[in-house]
Amino acid sequence: MTPHDASFYFPAPRTQKFCSQCGHLLSRLIPPDDTRMRDLCEHCGAVHYQNPRNVVGIVPIWGDQVLLCRRAIEPRLGKWTLPAGFMELGETTEQGAARENQEESGAQIRIQSLLTVVDVPSVNQVHLYYLAEVLSDQLDPGPETIEAQFFDLADIPWKELSFRTVTTTLEHYIQDRERGVYETHHYAIDFRFPD
Ligand SMILES: [Zn+2]
Repeated sequence: MTPHDASFYFPAPRTQKFCSQCGHLLSRLIPPDDTRMRDLCEHCGAVHYQNPRNVVGIVPIWGDQVLLCRRAIEPRLGKWTLPAGFMELGETTEQGAARENQEESGAQIRIQSLLTVVDVPSVNQVHLYYLAEVLSDQLDPGPETIEAQFFDLADIPWKELSFRTVTTTLEHYIQDRERGVYETHHYAIDFRFPD
């Protein structure tokens, strides 16, 4: 265990000040034979590449209802969301989505098809949501969730949802359900230019 409680820790900014290989200050430069600015170590030669991160989650369906979780953590504390979170090293997207669901709702699920792939270049993320069948109404939400609750589709709290990726994923689910055909929807959201 660590000497501090959870509130002490925060995700470090993506820009690095010091080289993780040798501890020297980094320089912001375009490396030879590259086209982009990188964090370079002029002491040991390490190039500290930064790449987008994946957020993986599910749309958990129990009959005519969808399972949503109320966030117990920032950002968007208190808002309703689909079970989702950052993919971990060494897991597949499906394994990550299932793990996040286990952590946030505790519902037993079976993952089905991929529903949405959402590019969010303004925050350097790609969000992937799988359809998932909920196998039991027994829930066991973890510390990141205030409460988990099943909603009739007509009662989804649209104004109290956490993120545009969640809202648009639920919209695609409802449209596909009405048509009776589930497809994979790939689109981009740019938070700098909200529509
Ligand atoms: Zn270095």
